[in-house]
Amino acid sequence: MTLVVNIGTSTLELVQGDITGQEADGIVNAANAELAGGGGVDGAIHRAGGPEIMAACRAIGGCPTGQAVVTTAGALSARKVIHAVAPRYKDGLQGEAGLLASAYNAALEIASDQGLKTVAFPSLGTGAYGYPLEGAARVALRTVIDFLGSHPQVERVRFVLFDKKALAVYQQVLMEEAPTRRPGSR
Ligand code: ADP
Repeated sequence: MTLVVNIGTSTLELVQGDITGQEADGIVNAANAELAGGGGVDGAIHRAGGPEIMAACRAIGGCPTGQAVVTTAGALSARKVIHAVAPRYKDGLQGEAGLLASAYNAALEIASDQGLKTVAFPSLGTGAYGYPLEGAARVALRTVIDFLGSHPQVERVRFVLFDKKALAVYQQVLMEEAPTRRPGSR
């Protein structure tokens, strides 16, 4: 089931799936600060997108936590991959929430600057980096809702949640956070 809400003239969607299979202008990678590739979303994007993406990452060299950079999408159908770096979660007292929000904002700013109208995000930080799912979902959804409210040029943001649990948590949090929601399913 897809949950869809309208934020101003833009749309926010939650779906379950694999981010590498998404039709979107921009696909967001859960990258590390070295832009070195790895497991999870990062491995899947580099496998599906081919070596061009890693070559572009090497040329950039790295990206601080809470920031994002953009590269080619290689063999993926997207126009660009946006590599966003979430914090490694320790105890929630190390500025993790601010850094996670910053990673989402940086990715969204790049999408807006690059004229990417549709953007697919994974759940940044909630895999290898250990951010608790509900807290991460709240930061993610609040940040995207705020951004879309003031940047109608980004027309659609889709969260692609890998498993049922993540989808259920994001759905619950979205129902609580969306200000002018018009939930529907399809
Ligand atoms: P991080 O290092 O930022 O925690 P991960 O890639 O380890 O990033 O995990 C982020 C989230 O993405 C996890 O919830 C994980 O289950 C999910 N995930 C893993 N592979 C995929 C994929 N191919 N598509 C979408 N989500 C994925």
